[in-house]
Amino acid sequence: MIFRILLPLFCSLYFAGCVQTKHYKNSQHLEIYDEKKEDINENKLLVDFNSCSHGKKQSPVHILTSELKTNAMLPIIITNYHTSPLIIKNNQHTIKAKFDNANSIVLGKEKYSLKQFHLHAPSEHKLDGKLFDLELHLVHQSESGEYAVIAILMRSGKENLALKQFFENLPKEDHAILNTKLKIKLNDILPSDLSYYGYIGSLTTFPCDEKVNWLVLKNEVEVSEEQIQKFKAIFPNNAREIHPLNDRFVETN
Ligand SMILES: [Zn+2]
Repeated sequence: MIFRILLPLFCSLYFAGCVQTKHYKNSQHLEIYDEKKEDINENKLLVDFNSCSHGKKQSPVHILTSELKTNAMLPIIITNYHTSPLIIKNNQHTIKAKFDNANSIVLGKEKYSLKQFHLHAPSEHKLDGKLFDLELHLVHQSESGEYAVIAILMRSGKENLALKQFFENLPKEDHAILNTKLKIKLNDILPSDLSYYGYIGSLTTFPCDEKVNWLVLKNEVEVSEEQIQKFKAIFPNNAREIHPLNDRFVETN
């Protein structure tokens, strides 16, 4: 019944979003990532809908290193990241930094442009029974609409200098965009070894599209307890629950 009531509302908002593309005046060439989907999220229309409740390839998952499938053909991640402007937004679900299409990765023959990164507390993926303090998702999209998300598992340790300005400028209010005129060295966020656990899954927020190449980096990154607490003061728990692998495998090379 609730579905019947909410579906027309969802459709009208969704298609209204299709014809209106927003641009932020202060950001040259900044094409906003999936604005229509984001608007739906921001309107809190988190309806238990389609893939989110019925999908069989949902994320996050529990990665067990004893059950990995070896795939020697797993493509390496080739990054083409630059120092980029840091534009930060609180979208009520997380805090994200948005990017134009100047940064990308290549996986095999496919190029994916970096759209944004954001954080979850605690980690969404579980590794051998363990959750981490934070998980950072670098969200990339190809021209055909496929996603590749690099997930960095983060644990308490020394201060993360690559993300220092990000953690010092977290907007506390919903929707706040802080045009800080700061820059971030994207390469410095990544560990030097980009080997990963790979599997096909979904976005972990609505609409839970099942077209995501998940690249969960094997090497953890440290963040200070103070940095963790700065994020958790705004979002104490924004991780989605673990979903079953069903007939999928997590691959390693
Ligand atoms: Zn995420």
